[in-house]
Amino acid sequence: VAHLVPYIDAEKDGGQAKAKLVLATVKGDVHDIGKNIVGVVLQCNNFEVIDLGVMVPAEKILETARTIDADVIGLSGLITPSLDEMVYVASEMQRQDFSLPLLIGGATTSPVHTSVKIDPAYNGPVIYVKDASRSVSVVQSLIGSDYDSFTSQTTKDHAHRRRRHDGKITKGPELSLATSRANAMVYDWSSYMPPVPRSMGRKIFADYPLEELVPYIDWMPFFNAWEFRGRFPAILEDETVGEAVRSLHADAKQLLKQLIEEKWLKAAGVIGFFPANAAGDDIEIYTSEDRNEIALHSHHLRQQRRKRSDLSNDCLADFIAPIGQAADYLGAFAVTTGIGLEEHVARFEEQHDDYSAIILKALADRLAEAFAERLHQRVRIEFWQYASEEQLDNEALIAEAYRGIRPAPGYPACPDHTEKKALWELLDTRNSTGIELTESYAMYPTAAVSGWYFSHPKAHYFSVGKIGLDQVEEYAARKGWKLTEAERWLSPNLGYDAVAD
Ligand code: SAH
Repeated sequence: VAHLVPYIDAEKDGGQAKAKLVLATVKGDVHDIGKNIVGVVLQCNNFEVIDLGVMVPAEKILETARTIDADVIGLSGLITPSLDEMVYVASEMQRQDFSLPLLIGGATTSPVHTSVKIDPAYNGPVIYVKDASRSVSVVQSLIGSDYDSFTSQTTKDHAHRRRRHDGKITKGPELSLATSRANAMVYDWSSYMPPVPRSMGRKIFADYPLEELVPYIDWMPFFNAWEFRGRFPAILEDETVGEAVRSLHADAKQLLKQLIEEKWLKAAGVIGFFPANAAGDDIEIYTSEDRNEIALHSHHLRQQRRKRSDLSNDCLADFIAPIGQAADYLGAFAVTTGIGLEEHVARFEEQHDDYSAIILKALADRLAEAFAERLHQRVRIEFWQYASEEQLDNEALIAEAYRGIRPAPGYPACPDHTEKKALWELLDTRNSTGIELTESYAMYPTAAVSGWYFSHPKAHYFSVGKIGLDQVEEYAARKGWKLTEAERWLSPNLGYDAVAD
């Protein structure tokens, strides 16, 4: 970018940028690697980008668009609650009589959600942009003579997707909650001895050595962030992209070395182990081993899909011994490697070195995942000690060849992001690590991972998928929520049209 800027400016001489865009990661969300790549690609194609950053409220986006007379607005988001926020921005654009095109992108966004939820909220064009490489052609179509044909095609696509979606939704989830529960995992708890953690309560790692984490890095997601697909390390030798991947890998390793030597980032983490038992689909976490007093509940959801006869309808609570069966335990963790990141990102951005800024952010994310991997390994071997003989290389760790899981709230087995609140209470996460939660329950700093530890040999990841009104109503009652609130937080999992709408 630094190299291109003088050329782009020279080209602009007399003329101006082809169009002005306002880009933002929506309120409650903190993820911006993808958005930043989009911004760079657009700028290199002579579009003017006003990037408002992360956690940007609708009012600020629309006010900026008005003030600078933007041609297009682009919204980005990674976590599921951002989907609702995007619908809100669209409805505000409608209310404030905007007519300019709205672009939608980011990991949880999809063509279906854009057509079914966002497009109906706004009369102007709404376009789902699959990745950064599409952004230039999409914006080009929206500002040139193709506008009419492009937007009328988009309108048709939206209508088509809505019709297909309507057909699906009326079917609802396949099983009732009662039937799903009757098909829960069958397990003989009477002969099971839950492993006992070596010590209860919290353990804080205030300044974890980063160099210890390097061998635990999973590189593939790093290349995915740059829209390379394939497997690592095979992709290094790929005929088409190999050269680009190798050069990126070399630059990343160089920066990684420097950031560790010069201590740009600090890693902080906390883990904890607590007496726990399953009570239906929830897990009761106790204040002490006598199990008389409940510290809090970890709430869980159950699959309502029809399963093959040999498969169960899973819920994470099934991997903890039920009350009265055995004294079981639940672990919890939260880690970050993003402390100190921002000043270095800002320094690169000031130098127009977006490339290094993006590498650095992506590396911080990788280190956070590596930290989660390393701590989980130490938990199995050292702190919970249920796999003290384990010997796995990094490939086997990435393939999750070990006993136990570390499901993360917001992911498919536990899609309710608000359950992070329990993790923050139990671990006093904010004070012990500095990681904060936004109003959408995104973690900040972004380079952070949190979740539960399950030790049971049968524990595995699954996807809750679509659930019915019966389960949503009951879950709302268990959480002390109104139905509206439950439907809002669980909206990606609703197997029916929200009642509270
Ligand atoms: N090696 C990867 C690890 C992250 S992805 C990386 O470096 O990016 C795997 C993690 O995502 C798991 O450890 C778990 O925390 C979470 N995860 C994956 N599938 C999940 C599911 N179905 N439910 C809950 N969490 C899940």
